[in-house]
Amino acid sequence: MPVYRPRRKTPTPWSGYIKPFKITDSVCYVGVYQVCTHLIDTGEGLIIVDAGYADCLYMIVDSIHRMGYDPTDIRYIISTHGHGDHMEANPALRGLTGAKVVLGEKDLPAGEKFGGADIAVKDGDVLSLGNKKIKFIHTPGHTAGCMSFTFEDTVDGRPVLAGTFGGAGANTLTAASSGYYPGCTDDYLRSVERLEKIPLDVFLANHTWNNDTEGKGRKLLETGVNDFVRPETNDWLPFLAYCRERCLRTVEKDRAAGLSP
Ligand SMILES: [Zn+2]
Repeated sequence: MPVYRPRRKTPTPWSGYIKPFKITDSVCYVGVYQVCTHLIDTGEGLIIVDAGYADCLYMIVDSIHRMGYDPTDIRYIISTHGHGDHMEANPALRGLTGAKVVLGEKDLPAGEKFGGADIAVKDGDVLSLGNKKIKFIHTPGHTAGCMSFTFEDTVDGRPVLAGTFGGAGANTLTAASSGYYPGCTDDYLRSVERLEKIPLDVFLANHTWNNDTEGKGRKLLETGVNDFVRPETNDWLPFLAYCRERCLRTVEKDRAAGLSP
């Protein structure tokens, strides 16, 4: 078993606290600043999307309680990809709840450091629990096994398609990164193109900067206006366009620096 030592210890994790809020009829935000954590209520148990950093888990457990849920009802922890900022808290949360960890099969080796996974998923797999069917889309690039997903949900009873891009960071796309693998930028651009064809009504971010999760959440709590579900403030397609542009910029920089052909 490899020994994992976190590269970044947060001396004051509470400074990243975000007050939890409800996004759709089934989804709550229970994460902290930076890495997102979402809770999905399926009517027959809970699903957590990304447990986050180990030293932030106490805030996530507190937020789950504050939203009126019991963490021991968590059945699955979906890890969008095999990086520590999304998976570090898995062993503790799994120990607390007995939940099964779900991870993209190509990220299984990377996930070993963070307690591994109970269920490996690949493109087209569906995770069913209660009234939810989580449909996985393999979107490699940021990591080889990065998984996005969609599911049908409702907002005040109105049907919506919710989902996420499971790993959008360009940090691993440069040949200078330890996370780089040959062909990752082509994979990434193909993944973005594929996701652009999916008409998401509700975009759940992977990191708070993806859709200003924190700002939108604060506005929702203060004014009741829910910019996560309004078509006018749907950041899905603009975000994907930004991802493509940033990837192309990274490729260009690497070329200019002689790092790639
Ligand atoms: Zn990552």
